[in-house]
Order: sequence, then structure tokens, then C-alpha cells
Amino acid sequence: MMNYPLLIKNCILERAKNIYPKKEIVSRDYNGMFRYNYAQFYERVCRLGSALQKLGVQRGDRIGTLAWNNHRHLELYFAVPCSGAVLHALNLRLFTEQLIYVINHAADSYIFVDMDLVPLLENIQDKLSSVKGYVIMSPETELPQTRLQPVYSYEQLVNEGDPGFQFPADLDENMPASMCYTTATTGNPKGVVYTHRSIVLHSFSECMVDSLAVSEAEVVLPVVPMFHVNAWGLPFSCTMVGAKQVFPGARPDAKVLCQLFQDEKVTATGGVPTIWMAVLAELEREQYDLSSLKTIVNGGSALPRAILEGYRRKLGIDIIHAYGMTETSPLVLYNYTKSYLRDLSAEEYTQLKLKQGLLVPGLEMRVVNEKGEDVPRDGRTMGELLLRGPWIAGYYYNEPERSRETIVDGWLHTNDIATVDEEGYVQIVDRTKDLIKSGGEWISSVDLENAIMSHPAVAEAAVIAMPHPRWDERPLACVVLKPGTSASEEDIIKYLSDKVAKWWLPDKVLFIDEIPKTSVGKFDKKVLRSRYATSS
Ligand code: AMP
Repeated sequence: MMNYPLLIKNCILERAKNIYPKKEIVSRDYNGMFRYNYAQFYERVCRLGSALQKLGVQRGDRIGTLAWNNHRHLELYFAVPCSGAVLHALNLRLFTEQLIYVINHAADSYIFVDMDLVPLLENIQDKLSSVKGYVIMSPETELPQTRLQPVYSYEQLVNEGDPGFQFPADLDENMPASMCYTTATTGNPKGVVYTHRSIVLHSFSECMVDSLAVSEAEVVLPVVPMFHVNAWGLPFSCTMVGAKQVFPGARPDAKVLCQLFQDEKVTATGGVPTIWMAVLAELEREQYDLSSLKTIVNGGSALPRAILEGYRRKLGIDIIHAYGMTETSPLVLYNYTKSYLRDLSAEEYTQLKLKQGLLVPGLEMRVVNEKGEDVPRDGRTMGELLLRGPWIAGYYYNEPERSRETIVDGWLHTNDIATVDEEGYVQIVDRTKDLIKSGGEWISSVDLENAIMSHPAVAEAAVIAMPHPRWDERPLACVVLKPGTSASEEDIIKYLSDKVAKWWLPDKVLFIDEIPKTSVGKFDKKVLRSRYATSS
């Protein structure tokens, strides 16, 4: 067979232009909805490619983006890697110090920034040593007032760009195409570099029927931000198969999302559980016609049972559970139901849907105990999940020490504790550092949270370990009640008593106004621990 390079240009961009020129891309812009098709998209990507060349962007240069999910960001997703440069989507919710750190660590040479995010960069530009210029993205060609220097207008660069620009044809499939930083829970964020080959293979895997089944007929709205593992790779897989893409733009709230789901007849979407909680609350308040929506993918954190059941009740669909991480591009596990498991009892079926799912083709996994031995596939014995495959990180960018700690003997150590059942379904029990180690046994904070969140008065719950003189650690539950409801510590404990083992019952239930969230919308247990884990 030919040794054909798997390049974003050949396998994704050109295909979209040649086969799906009429298919639509829709984006919530600052001045209203923006619509165009893949033919027009392709032309703008070429113009942008020539603009990058004029700016002097070289192969291997890192190009930062500080942007929402929108069509300009999508154009950069293609123009940058197809030029041979590396797209570095910056997490716009990072603390200032971390934002400075990742820009300097990646040594970004230009930063493309959405107009409303410009102040974030104005305040730190003195500390950004590698940046040669800033490009402001807005619907206008005129530049807004800004302290950024030197500064360019995105629309002007695109207007003046060459629509017939040819991207280089001699890239190597193992060249870096994109990078994302992890939201590290300890220390500085770590950079993961994706290659053309890894992105193309990951896109194929997302288009498989037993996986996300991204296809031409789908209308996909990625809620997951384009800076969080490249919106789970959806902009690449959707473009590969010409799916209609809908981008929710700046600061989308639950109302905006529900309106877009309805107006654009969205069929598939993906995000973290906090999004699905907010959208469900909106659906309880207002009427929307979401009859087109068939696939809601939950990833990033465990799917709470109350959310699964809420969507069943409200929309008549099962949220699909998936698992991955920045280091894994991210797709690793996807919970499709095997044909012969569809007639399980209702409770068994729900238990199955709450698992993270089956390993997608192309990857290998192991679940190992502390001695490094594979645990039995009995759905009970816990071990650490190890992974390897063509879209699993082999190292962290310029971090030899931390790379050696995490990638050992060719396997990525996920730090996630899992069980695997006889059918191969994997359940993530907890992150190693979130497990509560009580009297030599493990309590899953995720299971406890799920049980608490099924209480009708509870909006959100996060469980953390607090130090204990006799048992080492004991669970502390931080609970947010739904507006207009009430429940006491005793009510919650009583409610849990027939749902979890007695020794799992929290020693304390703290009622708080809000669970702090990380920059990608997950419960921030680091903050909770520092605030409350000393209370006894
Ligand atoms: P990130 O790199 O920010 O995407 O975080 C990756 C981590 O999120 C994983 O190592 C898991 O601990 C967690 N995670 C992702 N998906 C799930 C899921 N479906 N259930 C439980 N934890 C998850």
C-alpha cells in the first residue's frame, strides 16, 4: 500500500470543500447569526493561510487563539495547521498567572483574540516575551481602541488574503498540528501536542457508528469549548464528513443553547455535566421544541444519575457517557449499548448507561492494581486505567520529568481509578486524588455525589476527603440546594442510608451557595479542599 500521509489538509479540509461545498456552518457572532457554507469557509481559510504567510509565520510556530466557539476560530483550526504551524487554543478562563505561563511556555508567536477578550491580553502583554503581534477578531474590519501592539484586524487580513492560496503539500503527518494545555490540578498546566496523524485518526474514530457517529446528516453544536481538548476534536471530525456545525459564540448560557438547539434543529451536542444541569433547569422553566436532538454526549466528569433521568423524563433520550482527557485527544471510552444488552431490566440498563463505556477502536487499555497486575474483569475490582494508541500523548511538551512520571513503559498513566466488567464496559470510579481513603478502604466520591444529587432538593453536590485521626480520611459533602427548597444534614444522611454502605455516609454535610468550578466547568475540589477539608 502507499505510504500516504494523514494530513488535515488532504483528509479533512479538501474533502469538505470538494464534497460538501453547500453544507452550512452557523455561528453566533457579536452582531447576530453568521451563516456560510463549506465552499465559502474554504475560501476564507485559504485567504487566512496567505495572511499567515505575510505575517511571517513559519513551520512549527505556535499560534495562540483566545476565542469562543465561533466560525473564525474554526478557520484558524485549519489555516494554522495546514500552513505547518501549530494551533494553540488558550483557555480563556485560566487565572492570569497561568495564562501568562502557557503563552510563554508554548512561546506563541501571534495571538488571535476575540474582541471581547482583548482586555485579558492588554493587561499581560508586557509579560509575553515571544508574541510578535495580536490579531483582533470581530465582524468589523476596523480595529477597536486597544493598547495591544502591534495589532491587526482579522477581517482585514482575510479580505486582503489570496483566495487561491495553496497550502504546502509536503508536510509530514507526524508534524505537530495543535496543542492544548491540561488544567493541571497541581503545578503548572502541561502541554500536549497533537499531530496531523493523530487528529486525522481521532476524527475517523469519532465518525464510527459505534462511537460518536458524526456524519453528514448530523447538525452538531459543540458546547465544550474549542480550548478544551479542541472541543473534543469535533471541529475536525464534523468538517471531515461535512456535518452542519453550529457555534454558540461568546458566553453562551442555557437560554442561548436551548434557543440554538431549537432554531438550528441541532441533532448532536457535547459538554460537561454542569452544562447539562443548567440546560435541564432551563428546560424545566421554558418550553422549547427540541425534537431534533438525539445525541447528548456527557464527558469531562461523571454523568450524575439525576441528569440521566432528568433528560429521559424531559426529552425522552438517554445522555451518552464518554470519557477522555487532554492527553488522549480526548476520545477513549464511549458508551454505546451492545445489541444483546438492550433488553436488560430498567435498573440494570441505567447502571450500564452510567458507566463511561467501551474502549474505541485503535486504542489499547489496561486496568492495573498497585503491583501493576491486570485486575479481573468483574465490574468490581478497581485499578488504574493505562492507555496507549495513536492519539494518546507520548510526552508533555518540554517537560521531560513530568513526562517520565506519567508515560511509563509506553503506557499513559491516567491517574483515574476504574473497574471493567465482563462485557468490557469501563466505569471510572474516581480520580486517584479524589478517592476517600477511609480505614484502608476506598470510598468513591463520584458515587456518593451521584447518590446525593438524586435527592429532589439537591442542585449540586461535591464530596471531598477530610482528614480523620482514626480513619485517615472521611467524606465531607458540600451541597447546593435548589432554589425554594430545604433539607437538613439529617435529611440528606437519612436519604443516603439505603443507597450507600453505612461506612460511606458523610461525616458532615455542608450547605453552600455554589460549588466552585474549574476553568472547564468541572467541580473544583482543589478549592473545596482548601476551604473546607480541615473542618471537623
Ligand atoms: P481534562 O484533561 O480536563 O479533559 O480532564 C481529564 C480528566 O477528567 C480525566 O482524567 C478524568 O479524571 C475526568 N473525566 C473525563 N471524562 C470523565 C467521565 N466521563 N467520567 C468521570 N471522569 C471523567
